This record gives sequence, structure tokens and C-alpha cells, in this order.
Amino acid sequence: MPSYLFTPDQQAMQEAAARFARERLAPGYQKREAGQAIDRDLMREMGALGLIGVDLSERFGGMGLSSTTAGVIIEQLGYGDFNVAYVQLLASLMGSIVERHGAPELAAKWIPRVVAGDAMIGLGLTEPRGGSDAANLMLRAERRGDRYLLTGEKTSASCATQCDAFVVFARTGAPDTGARGVSAFFVEADAKGLTRTSFDDVGHKAVGRGSLFFDGVEVAAGARLGDENKGFSQVMQGFDFSRALIGL
Ligand SMILES: Cc1cc2nc3c(=O)[nH]c(=O)nc-3n(C[C@H](O)[C@H](O)[C@H](O)COP(=O)(O)OP(=O)(O)OC[C@H]3O[C@@H](n4cnc5c(N)ncnc54)[C@H](O)[C@@H]3O)c2cc1C
Repeated sequence: MPSYLFTPDQQAMQEAAARFARERLAPGYQKREAGQAIDRDLMREMGALGLIGVDLSERFGGMGLSSTTAGVIIEQLGYGDFNVAYVQLLASLMGSIVERHGAPELAAKWIPRVVAGDAMIGLGLTEPRGGSDAANLMLRAERRGDRYLLTGEKTSASCATQCDAFVVFARTGAPDTGARGVSAFFVEADAKGLTRTSFDDVGHKAVGRGSLFFDGVEVAAGARLGDENKGFSQVMQGFDFSRALIGL
């Protein structure tokens, strides 16, 4: 039946995602949930089929399609495996942040890997004192010449022990600067001084939330995303879109 909501191209993507969900995701869902990890081979299969980060730029391997198309795919994949749909969610949100606010070399290195299903970039925003009041986050980033030193803790990060890198929000301004003293950084998961632990969550186990501990983690100034102290106003712009994707 023709859809009055979606274009013919969106319907084609919807059908491809629905088929993948039905044939490749649904049958192994329970086993994967018990295994407590996203299957990397499945990620690569989705990447090869063009089901990851379709809204990211063609320059970096995406398709330059609309956010609606990304949402259509996430909704269909979620029917087969709620956990696996998180791969697309992280790809669209984190990929667009790196694409818009990262150095071109950083985007060229990471986004093609994300789109191919070879890498996941996670979000380090929430801290133990609470996630709603993100403007008052405390993890510190101190400038030392051409580097920053990150010290503090993030918690409740999805795929904490599985991600290959994180977009981390940290305080670069004085403690009382609120949203005006926050900057965003790209931190590779194997950075020295970064350790990760996993929660024993009640469900959603293949995604698995966890904590990130930063003990003087060195980050090159070139890995800052957006301007210093503009993490809130510039980099968090995509978050409203991601909340809609989570709802799907
Ligand atoms: C499945 C899942 C995945 C997640 N993935 C990530 C991730 O990848 N990265 C990441 O950084 N975070 C992640 N989070 C964390 C999420 O963003 C936080 O849970 C959220 O921001 C709320 O923070 P909190 O849990 O600390 O609750 P709190 O901020 O402590 O809030 C607790 C309760 O108090 C209420 N409340 C808070 N402030 C006020 C106020 N001023 N007035 C009235 N009521 C208030 C809230 O609505 C809530 O009901 C994830 C959470 C879940 C559940």
C-alpha cells in the first residue's frame, strides 16, 4: 500500500530495515541479550547494507539522507532487537556531532568506521550527582599547552565498555559558570588514564550502561569539539533529535 507519510526512497529503506530485523535480528535476540554485548558482525552487516548513519554526510561515507529516514530505520530495527537499534542512534547523534564540530581529520578517521559498523562512539554526559542538571557537570578539563587533562567521572553511559570512543562533556570554565563553562571533547576509549566498568542493569543488557573514570586523561586540543566553553550551546544541539529517536 502506498504511504502518504514517507517518500518512495524512505519506504524502500523501511522495507530493507524491516527485512533485516525480521530475518537477522529477531531470531537471535534473546541469546544476544543474555550475551550482554552488541554483536560486531551484525553491526558490520548493517553497515554493508547501508543501515547505519544514513543521515551523515556522503563525504564521510553516509548517504546525506534526512533525519526522518534515520528514524524510519531505527523504528524498524527496534522491532527485531531493541538493543541493536542503539547502534543507529549513537551513530546518528555522535556522528553528526563529530561531523559538525570536530576537526576534518577526526571526522574523516572516525565517521567512515561508524557508518561501516566497525566502531561505536558513545556519550559521556551524565555524572553521579545527576543527569538532568547537566549544565552543572563537574568533570574537569584543564588546559596544558596544546592538550587538556580530563579528571572526573561519568556514569550511566550506554555501551560504556563496548564503545571505541566517546564524546565527553567537561568543565573548562570556573565551577560557577554553569552551561557557559562546558566544552566537549572526543576521547578514544584506549586513552591512558581512562577506565570503564559495566552496570548489572535489569534489562537492555546487550547495550549495557556503565561508568567512565578519567584520571588525568590527556586529550589533544584538536580533539575539542566546537569552541571552548560552547559545549552546551553548540554541541548539544543534536540532543533534541536523539530524544525523538530514543522514543521510536
Ligand atoms: C537506558 C539509559 C541509557 C542512558 N545512556 C546514557 C548515555 O549514553 N550517556 C549519558 O551521558 N547518559 C545516559 N543516560 C543517563 C540519562 O541521560 C540520565 O538518566 C538522565 O539525564 C537523568 O539523570 P539521572 O538518572 O541522574 O536522574 P536525576 O537527574 O537525578 O533525576 C532524578 C529524578 O528527579 C527529577 N528531577 C531532576 N531535577 C529536577 C528538578 N529541578 N525539578 C523537578 N524534578 C527534577 C527527574 O525528572 C527524575 O525523575 C542513560 C540513561 C538510561 C536510563
